[in-house]
Amino acid sequence: MIRKLILVSATFVVLHAVAAHAFFCIEWRQGSCVYWPDSRTTMLAFLGSPGTSLINGTQTWDENAFAAANDWNAVGAIQFTVDNGDNFLDPCGAQNHQSHICDNTGALGDNPIFFASTFCGNAFGDVIELTNNCWDSVSGRMLNAPVFVNANVLWNAYDGPLRFSNGQPIYDARRVLLHELGHVLGLDHPDAHAQTVQAIMNSRVSNIDRLQADDINGARAIYASASGSTIGTSGCQVRARRGGGAVLPLLLGWIILACQRRRLRRA
Ligand SMILES: [Zn+2]
Repeated sequence: MIRKLILVSATFVVLHAVAAHAFFCIEWRQGSCVYWPDSRTTMLAFLGSPGTSLINGTQTWDENAFAAANDWNAVGAIQFTVDNGDNFLDPCGAQNHQSHICDNTGALGDNPIFFASTFCGNAFGDVIELTNNCWDSVSGRMLNAPVFVNANVLWNAYDGPLRFSNGQPIYDARRVLLHELGHVLGLDHPDAHAQTVQAIMNSRVSNIDRLQADDINGARAIYASASGSTIGTSGCQVRARRGGGAVLPLLLGWIILACQRRRLRRA
């Protein structure tokens, strides 16, 4: 008997802490983090080139995705492979068990990083980039996690303090992608859970442009605990499972909030 695969996407973030650390992971059940089997995943970069050199000397947005992935790979917790995408499959669409494993996440294992003018028809608002995680809610195994980059804001790539042009923020693609890959691997925002800590994973863009100790500890905590349960293939391919999901946006920086008094919002 063929059993239908049933997956449900929900936009929630679980509010339980992982041990006594400042970092938080995305939990599929209390105390257990979502994770990629075999501690690895492949992303497809569709960001392309701006047609001019970026401030940090790179020629393409995708180079900054590679650099962000390399930073995480150096931690030794998870191995990202980022390839230049050539066949874009739109992650937007209702869950249908074929091309969309959860709502607006696309096909199983397909993880594009791409510019979008909306999040599947919903205005980005204050969100400059978001990751839509989908996981198997029985095992906690991640199924896919596309990264949407808001094409409506000003981007460049640079190290150091946040820059502005005519009062408008210029977002550094490298640090923002570093943040989003943290969501892809399973980390949440520590500051959204009442933690005060130096972290690239805080929900607001800041002058922090590289991984901090808390980010590194968080990734290592997820994959140290997941290592004993990564044997075998995704359970969702062989039996009915319910999936879960979390849309994790990165918000405008605090400087912008101070200037424009925009309301903090989590999608
Ligand atoms: Zn975020």
